[in-house]
Amino acid sequence: MEDIAIFDQQSWRLSDAQNALCVKARLLAEASFAPRAAGYDRAAQFPTENYEDLHTAALLGVCIPKEHGGLGADLKTYMLMASEIGRYCGATALTFNMHVSSCLWTGVLADGLNLDSETREELERTRKIHYQRIINDGAIYAQPFSEGGDAAAGKKAFGTTALKTDDGWIVNGTKIFASLSGHANYYGALCTEIETVTSELSRRNTMYLAIPADTEGVSVHGEWDPLGMRGTVSRTLVFKDVFVPHSEQLMPRGVYFKAASQWPHMFMTLTPSYMGIAQAAYDFTVRYLRGEMPGTPPAKRRMYPTKQMAVAQMRVMLEQTKSLWFQSISEARPNPSRESLIRAWTAQYSVMENANEIAQLAIRTCGGQAMLRSLSLERLYRDSRCGALMLPWTAELCLDMIGRAALYEPGESEDDDV
Ligand SMILES: Cc1cc2nc3c(=O)[nH]c(=O)nc-3n(C[C@H](O)[C@H](O)[C@H](O)COP(=O)(O)OP(=O)(O)OC[C@H]3O[C@@H](n4cnc5c(N)ncnc54)[C@H](O)[C@@H]3O)c2cc1C
Repeated sequence: MEDIAIFDQQSWRLSDAQNALCVKARLLAEASFAPRAAGYDRAAQFPTENYEDLHTAALLGVCIPKEHGGLGADLKTYMLMASEIGRYCGATALTFNMHVSSCLWTGVLADGLNLDSETREELERTRKIHYQRIINDGAIYAQPFSEGGDAAAGKKAFGTTALKTDDGWIVNGTKIFASLSGHANYYGALCTEIETVTSELSRRNTMYLAIPADTEGVSVHGEWDPLGMRGTVSRTLVFKDVFVPHSEQLMPRGVYFKAASQWPHMFMTLTPSYMGIAQAAYDFTVRYLRGEMPGTPPAKRRMYPTKQMAVAQMRVMLEQTKSLWFQSISEARPNPSRESLIRAWTAQYSVMENANEIAQLAIRTCGGQAMLRSLSLERLYRDSRCGALMLPWTAELCLDMIGRAALYEPGESEDDDV
């Protein structure tokens, strides 16, 4: 029996276009990604076949504006469709997010900014190059920003530098947890532009460059044998004197900084994978207790009040999470109000923490046989653990921001209390 939608069109009032994309993603992921997910996870292997399918289905260009040949999905539409992918293969959804982010930053987000006509023309020129590669050749873009310091949390300038030259930049630096490393065609790297090697680093000079994976000086290092999200292959990426020509700029100078400051909901794009996992853990539990889970004995366990209570608890948590998340992604816009921003942090925290909580309740409720590696639940449990760790909005940092925003008006500090 085919799964039902996480967000059905009528109840959640999706537009026809939103619903069509969600259905397309669900049917593809259920039929093709779900059967492959265990293999990628076991081998910690990148889901190459899934990306071929995404290209064939035109979904690699889901957030490329229509005038550039893409499907023109906005942030909310993308989040909804990506949750359907996360439900069947978390690693595919998470890596897909890194790829799609390159189109969101340069597409719908940049389009929502107030840019002068010269900058807009430059953006139009450069993004066209990237969009054509994606649509025509199935090019995959990664999004390495983490460096192991404060930069990924948005507190400091990126330590990866892009030294200006007449023809482009010389990039040097190291990115950790670079999902798709060794598999992406382009690394959409965030770096700090500098005039000389001794220039001071400033966040205002953040550059967003597409570094072709086969450029001299690009190398991938380290083992990849993590607890969860194993198919993301998030190894260490090193750039050593990598020359990047002007044509590889993803956004004109200053535009990334502006977009990141004005579009905070963009940082929620890591959540759909985990929204999907939460739904999958719940679905698994219901099927298992009804004795309908393929690969398990057809024994029913639904008649025990303890199971009914546990499923009720999971359903309450799932509905709370879905509602808050849906509300928050519906509010995504440039320069949201403080209330909307607090809600975005709250939604991020809730999805990341509750996905793991629902998955652990699922294991406790279904019991020992359900955590065998032949079934998907133990993978969902391990994958779900990764969400709260992802910068810049880790669960801890969300709580920190919510608490401070709730107790201090903008511009207030302890000095005002004296
Ligand atoms: C499966 C997976 C895939 C990933 N893919 C990518 C990717 O494609 N691209 C990419 O760039 N990154 C990626 N990441 C990295 C991720 O976004 C984080 O950067 C990474 O998990 C941080 O790990 P860390 O140990 O360096 O954290 P640290 O920076 O050491 O932080 C540890 C904890 O301290 C807290 N903390 C961090 N900074 C501050 C601060 N300034 N103030 C207070 N508390 C703080 C946070 O809560 C954090 O969880 C991925 C991570 C995972 C798990």
